Amino acid sequence: MGSTPHARRPGGAASPRMVRGARVPARASSEHSRTKANPVSETSPAPGGPSIDEQSITAAVDAALAAIAAAPDTAALKQVRIEHVGDASVLTSANRAIKDLPKEQKAAAGKLVGQGKGRVQKELAARQAELAAAEEEAALAAETVDMTLPTDRRPRGAAHPLWTLTERIEDFFVGIGWEIAEGPEAESSWLNFDALNADAEHPSRSLQDTLYLAPENSGMLLRTQTSPVQIRAMLERGAPLYIACPGTVYRADEIDATHSPMFNQVEGLAIDKGLTMANLVGTLDALAAHLFGGAPITRLRPNHFPFTEPSAEMDFRCFACEARLGLEHDADPDCRVCGGTGWIEMGGCGMVHPNVLRAAGVDPEEHQGFAFGLGIERILMLRNGVADMRDMVEGDVRFSQHYGTEI
Ligand SMILES: [Zn+2]
Repeated sequence: MGSTPHARRPGGAASPRMVRGARVPARASSEHSRTKANPVSETSPAPGGPSIDEQSITAAVDAALAAIAAAPDTAALKQVRIEHVGDASVLTSANRAIKDLPKEQKAAAGKLVGQGKGRVQKELAARQAELAAAEEEAALAAETVDMTLPTDRRPRGAAHPLWTLTERIEDFFVGIGWEIAEGPEAESSWLNFDALNADAEHPSRSLQDTLYLAPENSGMLLRTQTSPVQIRAMLERGAPLYIACPGTVYRADEIDATHSPMFNQVEGLAIDKGLTMANLVGTLDALAAHLFGGAPITRLRPNHFPFTEPSAEMDFRCFACEARLGLEHDADPDCRVCGGTGWIEMGGCGMVHPNVLRAAGVDPEEHQGFAFGLGIERILMLRNGVADMRDMVEGDVRFSQHYGTEI
């Protein structure tokens, strides 16, 4: 009912006279008074086509209202509007046909069609407003830009715990007035061994222990300790000198839970007039307190190193069990850190050998010095309970994340 015969029946044999198509054609009133009695006249092109009777108008209105309610969006509603109240719709066609009705029928037909069309238009407007609001809301939600979101969504990561610990150690030395010194990792054999008073037959020079750099006889190696940095500093700056040298060193070791061919150490060197072992022990006590807390007690055990005389192994009183409270307290026999001994081996130390001072241009009659070295991985393992050294270098980010984002 919603369109002219043209539109309803594309390609059909609609008469041009029926374009205006009501089934109440203009002729009806002038030629025959049959419209009311038989709305489906013989001139009607399609049975069931438009007519102005209450039933068909009500049906058209009901169909329009149902279509409006079912329209899911404004685009669909636009089609509903065209179909049900557009030029070719049943209601519009009926409206046009009113003027051709007999005079006495016009008022009733006009009221019927007008009210029906009015209801449809009102529903259309309401549904249009409803759908447009929903669509605008959806569009706004889709286009929302949260200005408070971070612009960089990449995870921040964490400083590697070895690096964090190295910085903490550096902070300690800077805090007591020392300087941080650095040097190359590819080092001359002279600075790594000879200047440090290691004789030509010293076992650490062997290929089993040291990584030499090509070509053969280049005299270059990957430094096995950071001690060459001490020689460089003494040669460049002379005495007095207070430096800490953190850095990576290399040994021809297989990697396992407690060994690595590449690890980090920090060495300290103090050169001044009148320095003694007491100054060394005092410095180590302060370092132990900085790293592990507790009541630090440093124990020295005689040893031999070519670059110090006297030389000693240094032990820190265990920080993990009762031993940390002092010498009167027994260590926990089950302590995992000290193994029940109450002591933790930390590294080597001693008074700088006069030959080393001489090699570095310092007069041993005038200046004395002490030196010590500690492994940073070992400190991390003790301090933070890392059981396997390999965890530090395997690059699993979960290892670093465990330490948070401390910077
Ligand atoms: Zn212990």
